[in-house]
Amino acid sequence: MKAMVLTKMTDLIQNKNPLEYIEMPEPIPKEKEILIKVSTCGVCHTELDEIEGRTPPSTFPMVLGHQVVGKVVETGKHTSRYKIDDRVGIAWIFSACGKCEFCQSGNENLCPDFKATGRDAFGGYAEFMTVPEDFAYPIPDVFSDSEAAPLLCAGAIGYRSLSLTNMEDGQGLGLTGFGASAHLVLMMAKYKFPNSKFYVFARSGKEREFAVELGAEWAGDTEDEPPEKLNCIIDTTPVWKPIVEAMKNLKPGGRLVINAIRKEEIDKDYLLNIDYPKHVWMEKEIKSVANVARNDVNEFLKLAAEIPIKPEFQEYKLEEANQALVELKERKIRGAKILMIN
Ligand SMILES: [Zn+2]
Ligand SMILES: [Zn+2]
Repeated sequence: MKAMVLTKMTDLIQNKNPLEYIEMPEPIPKEKEILIKVSTCGVCHTELDEIEGRTPPSTFPMVLGHQVVGKVVETGKHTSRYKIDDRVGIAWIFSACGKCEFCQSGNENLCPDFKATGRDAFGGYAEFMTVPEDFAYPIPDVFSDSEAAPLLCAGAIGYRSLSLTNMEDGQGLGLTGFGASAHLVLMMAKYKFPNSKFYVFARSGKEREFAVELGAEWAGDTEDEPPEKLNCIIDTTPVWKPIVEAMKNLKPGGRLVINAIRKEEIDKDYLLNIDYPKHVWMEKEIKSVANVARNDVNEFLKLAAEIPIKPEFQEYKLEEANQALVELKERKIRGAKILMIN
């Protein structure tokens, strides 16, 4: 089969072709696994973190990609959930131990044995992939393969972020950073909390305009102050400045949820601007989001089908994955980037 593989960590500013287009053997499903013929795979900011070494693959070469939609073409000996030709999605969580306290409580995203698709196991930048059947999800019929792919990461982790804010209807929610995940959060939050107002902080004027089009009450720059203090803010940026600036905009007892697998080092010194009374005091909290649990994916897919949420996307061929990654790095973003594979 054809695949785009990462053979070593590299710097995307210097190396615009981090992945190699190669021929490799088709995978064989183990007893509890299914074999998927990949149709589409989303391109995620986390791939940049893998390529640049902030969350490196556990082995090389690695097939990246964790927003995968495809059809079941073979089932392992001890599987029962799916039959041939069923359409399924695969997300960032590839497997977990199933036995630890986190797995037992439905928080398998925190499992010490958490394995990530496209980082610890081969992902969807390929014509075929295998996955344990318990970690595949039926895709609601309302979505095309391209529409469904970005829902599996940006959408599912956005859903978890929104749950972790603990917000209630009528409370104010801020979103700092307005990329793929934040768009989806705004759409689902408007539906779940019809009496709330939403405030977006983004560096680009275009993103701010888009936020207002999508129903934000107000949109400003990262350091701006919204017309009211907010109960909760979700940060989806890869840097530090938005954290400091968001903390000042929280109400007493407010919570900042950071939805980022890693932060870049580039502006870390901005943290020295933290002023305890202004940014931290009055019981303000910071909580990070780690990975996704299966419930997040399943519940979000149901919600997205009900609303419905149809993400905007831009299509690329498998062999154009490098171009899509470089454009993502350069923040040339017009909707989610999707590789069209079979
Ligand atoms: Zn992702
Ligand atoms: Zn576990």
